[in-house]
Order: sequence, then structure tokens, then C-alpha cells
Amino acid sequence: MARIVQKYGGSSVADLQLITSVARRAIAAKNAGHEVVVVLSAMKGETDRLLKMAREACPTPDPRETDNLLSTGEQVSTALFALVCHGLGETVKSFLGFQAGVMTDKAHGRARILNVNPARLRTELSKGRLAAVAGFQGINANDDITTLGRGGSDTTAVALAAALKADVCEIYTDVDGIYTTDPHVCDKARKIDRISYEEMLEMASLGAKVMEIRSVELGMNHGVKIHVRHARSQAPGTIICEEDDDMEKAPVRGVTVSVNEARITLLKVPDRPGVAASILSLISSAGIVVDMIIQNKSVSPADQSDPDQSWTDFSFTVPLADYRQALELMTAAGREIGAQEVVGDDHIAKVSIVGAGMRNHTGVAALMFQTLADKKINIAMISTSEIKISCIIEKDYAELSVRALHEAFQLDQVDGGRQTKV
Ligand code: ADP
Ligand code: ASP
Ligand code: MG
Repeated sequence: MARIVQKYGGSSVADLQLITSVARRAIAAKNAGHEVVVVLSAMKGETDRLLKMAREACPTPDPRETDNLLSTGEQVSTALFALVCHGLGETVKSFLGFQAGVMTDKAHGRARILNVNPARLRTELSKGRLAAVAGFQGINANDDITTLGRGGSDTTAVALAAALKADVCEIYTDVDGIYTTDPHVCDKARKIDRISYEEMLEMASLGAKVMEIRSVELGMNHGVKIHVRHARSQAPGTIICEEDDDMEKAPVRGVTVSVNEARITLLKVPDRPGVAASILSLISSAGIVVDMIIQNKSVSPADQSDPDQSWTDFSFTVPLADYRQALELMTAAGREIGAQEVVGDDHIAKVSIVGAGMRNHTGVAALMFQTLADKKINIAMISTSEIKISCIIEKDYAELSVRALHEAFQLDQVDGGRQTKV
């Protein structure tokens, strides 16, 4: 007997027929002798629909009220799941986030789970029953409903799996596992059998929306085995777990792209201590997260005329949703700091390659840059970590760059790029 948390995404519960099919699947797992907790997302498109209505109701919707509204999406699907189970002769109770003991901080719209007390779920399991939980939501210390950010039902599922010490957290979705890149972008994408938390964390944070970032982080911190698989297939999917010796040792495991970023550049800023700090502290005090940062000392002879003054160009990227605010802040700050000009670009994409095997291979970056150059794609910014390389490029080339890199690193082959000449 195993204890299993099963999470079904929006596309797997898009209508009553699909809810019936996932209910049968959960009941079958229970009848096979397992203890099963089911976490549900809102029906496909529902969260977007609610968000759009919130914005129509008020251009800047209040975060607390927005969370009250958005959380109804999961409330509907979870109650329907329980009712469908009743129709199939199964006794099941549905639980909202707070009833399942999901306690969060107060950051409406992107709340973090602080603590999980799944006492009521344990009671259901001890009675030999399935329990259904609304994903994506919790409650804060003011007893207000919070939501966890887009894709947050994955986080609910992994957090419950950790709290219940489940043997596995199964994430059911519309693809049959984690692929080398988004299979809807590249038809040569190949399913990966096992991937390390670390690699998955990088892929998720660099744009692979198949798993929400915090869910992978939670899984890694609590050692939750995660199995990503297709809701309408019995075939095994991808296991996310600790890195082990059996994992492919290709330098690159996956390619991701994100079009949700924008770049801001302060041109010809006086190069003196404290300038970078003053720019970034303004941005962070507005609650905006900065990703890539590049500072380039100007070596133009025209800028060297005054030996007591040197200049620098300072660029950074922010989430696209925060672009306007960041640009306004920087335009004002630029004048004070003495920047010649502040320019923004929201037509960019970040394409990345990820792989733990990169640690032991040389030439990976060179092959990435050459591949982009061969396609005449200009690189505006580069950032690297031990297991990833990211490049900012023009947005129009986002999908082309993914396909080109996928091919260059031979990711369609079972051995990955193990034989790739890098
Ligand atoms: P759900 O509604 O089940 O939570 P999501 O839409 O959040 O599903 O995530 C599944 C989608 O993630 C897939 O349809 C796929 O297009 C996308 N995706 C992006 N990158 C990858 C990848 N590397 N492997 C698999 N799917 C990916
Ligand atoms: N319904 C939420 C969303 O669409 C949470 C989820 O599906 O995981 O983002
Ligand atoms: Mg999702």
C-alpha cells in the first residue's frame, strides 16, 4: 500500500466528462489498496476568465478580493469532483485550502505556504476514503483566503505530499511527462524518464511551465518523489528526484524559453561606487524581482576625455508584468543619477539550456552561441550558472532558437547530447 497525492491540472478537469474520468482513476488507485488525496486545479481557462472579469470590474483590482474571486475556480472543480465520485458510489469529501490546513503568508496573489496541518485529510484516509482538496489556495493569519500564484496547484500537491509523508506526488497533466523542451513548440522534443530536482528547478524557473517553480523547490527540500504524467494514459511519465548515477549524463537535458521578461538600460551612467546599489534598491523596494544584470564600463574614446570621470551602461531584466512600473521608476531615477538616457525593450525572449552534465563539459556555451549565430540571432545579454546558460534575444526568434538549440545539442536522441561534440 502506498500513500499517493494525485494532482489534476485544468486541462484534465475541463468538463464533467473529464472530471468523471479522473475520478475513476483516483477511485481505481484507492481500490488497489492505496491511500489517495486528490488535488484539483480550476477547470481549464477558468482562472484566466475570472482574472479578466476582475480587471473589467476595476482596472487595478484589490489583491484580497481578487484572491476571493480566483479561489472559486478550484472550489467549483473540487466540489464537482466529489459529486461525480458520489455518483460513482464513492464517499468523498471536498476540502478548500483552509480546511486542508494550508496556511500561508499574507502576500495575496503569490502567497507562500508557511505550514500545512492536514488533520482532516488524515481522518478521511484513516476511514479508508479518498479526500479531494482545492489547489492553489490557502488561508493567512488574518483568516483571509490567499492564492499561491499561477500554476499553484502543483505547489499545494507537493506541500500536502510532504506534510502527509506521501510515497509519491503524481502530477497529471496534458503531456506525458517532462520533455527536453516544450513538445508544443518543438515536435522533436523527447520525454525524459528521470530528471533531478536541480535541473527541473532551473527548467521551471526559465520558462517550462509544466511544473510550478515553488512546487519543485518544495519537493527538493522535503525529498518528495514527483511523478509527472498524462491524465489519460497509464504509461509512466517522468520522475523528478535526487540526481543519481543512472541519470543521463548529457551536458544539456533541456531547452526552455520565456517571453515574460523585459529589459531596461540606463545609458552612460557616471561610473562611481553606489550607483548599481541605488538603481537596484529602488527596484527591489517596489517589490520587483530583477533577473539578469549587466554593467559595461564604456571604453569609447569620446567618453574618456575627462580623466576624472568614467561612464558605464547598466542593463537589467524584470518580469514583463512589472515593466511599465520599472521603466517609470528608472526614468525618474536616471535623471537624478545623471544617466544620459533610459531605454526599455519589452520585445525580448530568454532562451536557456539546462543540464547538470554541463559541470563536466567544456564548449557548451560556444556551441550555444554558434548555433544562435548560424541562425543570425543576435544575443543581447548572457547569464550563466553551474548548470544553465541563458541568452536574451529578440522575441520573434524565440521558437526558432529553441528548435535550433534542440537540434544542435541532439536532444532528440535517447542518449541526449552525450555524443554531442562540444
Ligand atoms: P496543467 O494545466 O496540467 O497544470 P500546464 O499547462 O501548467 O498544465 O503545463 C503543461 C504544459 O507545459 C504542456 O502542455 C506544455 O506545453 C508545457 N511545457 C513547457 N515546457 C515543457 C517541457 N519541457 N515538458 C513538458 N511540457 C512542457
Ligand atoms: N488555476 C490556477 C492557474 O490557472 C492554478 C493551477 O492551475 O495550478 O494558475
Ligand atoms: Mg500547471
